[in-house]
Parts: sequence; C-alpha cells; structure tokens
Amino acid sequence: MKEDCLFCRIIARQLPSEIVYEDDTVLAFNDIAPQAPTHVLIIPKSHVATVNTVADADAGVFTTLILRARAIAADRGIAESGYRVLFNCNAAGGQTVYHLHLHLLGGRQLKALG
Ligand code: AMP
Ligand code: ZN
Repeated sequence: MKEDCLFCRIIARQLPSEIVYEDDTVLAFNDIAPQAPTHVLIIPKSHVATVNTVADADAGVFTTLILRARAIAADRGIAESGYRVLFNCNAAGGQTVYHLHLHLLGGRQLKALG
C-alpha cells in the first residue's frame, strides 16, 4: 500500500467507497463523479501508478481489469447495447489519480472520441 494514494486508501477501507466487486487482486467501485449511469473504476489491489509503469512481467493486470469490466457490464445488462473501457495515462491523458484504474462507462449513448 502507498500511504498517500487515494485508491490504496479506498482498498484499505480508510476511505469510503461504493464497492461493486472485490476479489484477492481487484477492487471495483462506483466513480464519485459518474459520467454515465454506469461509471465503475476497476483497480488492481497492488499499487501501480500508470499504464506506463506496469512492468512487462505484470502486463496480465490489463487483461484482468478488462475482463472484470466486461463481466460487470454483462451483470448490468449493458454488454449488448455497448459500453466504453478506458485508461487515462498521465497529465495530457487526463489522469488525476495515480493508481492504475480502468473506467467502465455505459448506460447511455457515449459520444465518439475526438
Ligand atoms: P482519472 O481522471 O482517469 O485519473 O480518473 C480518476 C477518477 O477517480 C475520476 O473519474 C474521479 O471522479 C474518481 N474519483 C476521485 N476520487 C474518488 C473517490 N474518493 N471515490 C471514487 N471515485 C473517485
Ligand atoms: Zn495506490
């Protein structure tokens, strides 16, 4: 755990969150400022800051997070209508919390990027 990391503190239950899924390696919780009816953040329990800093040997974390997002989307009944999964990386990518997190957005029509 990184003591000054917001999401590590959520994992440790030092801060509240609306948890939607948890296992030994992953936590998923509702975004505090949802941009869509479903806006869930899926994070690894082991601290890593960004997409850039995931070690090649740990790259399976990406699969784990995306598969969990897919399962949550199916549970929410939005798999067929559609949803978005995205990582923001570093400042120009819009990242504000430096603990790796996958956004799952859905439940409304999302605009095309760009
Ligand atoms: P990003 O901009 O990709 O770093 O996304 C960070 C996300 O974390 C934003 O969508 C925030 O709304 C969300 N967020 C920040 N603080 C909290 C919190 N305490 N609980 C849940 N989500 C949060
Ligand atoms: Zn962290």
